[in-house]
Amino acid sequence: MTIIEYIEELSDIYGVADFSKNRYELIETYGEDICKYPYAIAIGHKMLEEIIENIPLTYTDDKLAQEYLDEYFNSHQRVSKIANKIVEKIKSEGYDAIVLDVSGKNEKLNLKMPFSNKASAHLSGIGWLGKNNLLTTKEFGPRLTWATILTNAPLSDYTKDEMKSLCDDCTICVKACPGNAIVDLPDPKESYSPEKCGAFLKSRQDEGHPVACGMCLFICPYGNKKSRKLVGD
Ligand code: SF4
Ligand code: SF4
Repeated sequence: MTIIEYIEELSDIYGVADFSKNRYELIETYGEDICKYPYAIAIGHKMLEEIIENIPLTYTDDKLAQEYLDEYFNSHQRVSKIANKIVEKIKSEGYDAIVLDVSGKNEKLNLKMPFSNKASAHLSGIGWLGKNNLLTTKEFGPRLTWATILTNAPLSDYTKDEMKSLCDDCTICVKACPGNAIVDLPDPKESYSPEKCGAFLKSRQDEGHPVACGMCLFICPYGNKKSRKLVGD
């Protein structure tokens, strides 16, 4: 089995970013070490559908809210295991590879700032940052967790260009956010307010509920068939 066939088998969606395309900007933002490896592989792993579908009930049911919170962390552990298996496969083929941890770092790299999974998936052309600031894919919306592998395996045939946002005039997450943390602007740096989102989560915590809110992840029509009908796709 080739490296790519193995990645295809283990991931729900993946993409490969070619760092030579954005070398100058990447080095300026993250430092020289980000280009130690020429490619980043973004590995997407689906969160459990039956738990995601319960998100609207989590605001009145603490048990379901805790289940969602647990799945959030468990899915990160699962995708991390998948990424480590892929690294083993790449090494067994004679190449080098490392996994970035959940905070976007690796002890072998001296980075000015963490390199996020959002960045790798965006640069690899498989998703865009939605108005909700979540990495969103056409196939599964934002219902995924991600891991990033940096490697020197020869993967140039599988790279794509960055993907443009497909949010367009959709405002479904803007209207659904219980913390009023999303506004209808195309740039997620302006549309999403981490302060307002954090304040909503804090208010839930202060009221004694699990610190979980995933309405923007649940409602996005690219992952939600019911809201997809609302936008007429
Ligand atoms: S997590 Fe909740 S409060 Fe934060 S942006 Fe998403 S829907 Fe709004
Ligand atoms: S719900 Fe609509 S606006 Fe929000 S991220 Fe998804 S596509 Fe974009």
